[in-house]
Amino acid sequence: MTTFPDRYREVSVTDVDVPLEAGPLHALLTARPVYRRSDYMVVRRGGQAALVKLRRGAETGLFAPLEDVELLAGPAETVYLRRPDLDTGVPSALLAAAAEAPDARCVVVEGAYGHVSFVLDPAPVRVHVLDVVPPRPAKLLDQLQRVLQTADDLPGVHLVPHVVELAGLLPPQPESTYLLPCRGGGMEVPGAAVAYLDEVPPRADWTLLGCARSRAIHDFFYGGPVRLIDTCPRHLAARADVPAGEALVTKCCLLEARNEVDGHTVVTPWGASFGQLREALATAVGPGGVR
Ligand SMILES: [Zn+2]
Repeated sequence: MTTFPDRYREVSVTDVDVPLEAGPLHALLTARPVYRRSDYMVVRRGGQAALVKLRRGAETGLFAPLEDVELLAGPAETVYLRRPDLDTGVPSALLAAAAEAPDARCVVVEGAYGHVSFVLDPAPVRVHVLDVVPPRPAKLLDQLQRVLQTADDLPGVHLVPHVVELAGLLPPQPESTYLLPCRGGGMEVPGAAVAYLDEVPPRADWTLLGCARSRAIHDFFYGGPVRLIDTCPRHLAARADVPAGEALVTKCCLLEARNEVDGHTVVTPWGASFGQLREALATAVGPGGVR
């Protein structure tokens, strides 16, 4: 199980002059009182670090006697990183740093504002994200990553990308003309003409590459029927490989105001706000969520 410090308590850091082993650390550290809010201590010596848990006795004012210390991770299993841009109060950010040292049981991070925190036995909650490209980068995935950079109220999340190339949905022999929802995505189809629905071009024998909303707009201007290659992420998500117990976040052209939960999938509106995206992640990781 992943251990983080309680985000309202400080991790103390001490440079010591004894071996980073249980016996010498116990003898040294229990000889003096600690601040009453300290639960963990990172001890450093000569470029190495270790993590200990502090067991405090009864408080007397600001300080409490230290009755016992437990060595949670010794120097051989601890990595110390300096990441001045990282907010160590955000579990997902700590886990992203920990991923840089996959063999370490304990990753201590000295981050922004000089704050030091750690993650022990990192095991992020995996949340799958299905998005389509172009445009690049995949917008939903990119925005969810940005939400996680400040999500100090969520557990540590690792996003598993499922990025679908729209070009990959086309048949091997391209058709003569494709109708795309708009020019903004920057998609080109080699060997085929491309028209844009939002420019309302003259009707041609085309195949619409779009979602249910584009289909409705097409039918409004031109009447049906039209050949359609469905690019709605919500529909594509039904084919994504998501292990049991894990959730997926995606988007749908038909949602306008709020998120929807559909089995293990959380669907957000196409142009979801950061608030809605944060809510979608909170739903995906529970409690009471979809997992
Ligand atoms: Zn849709």
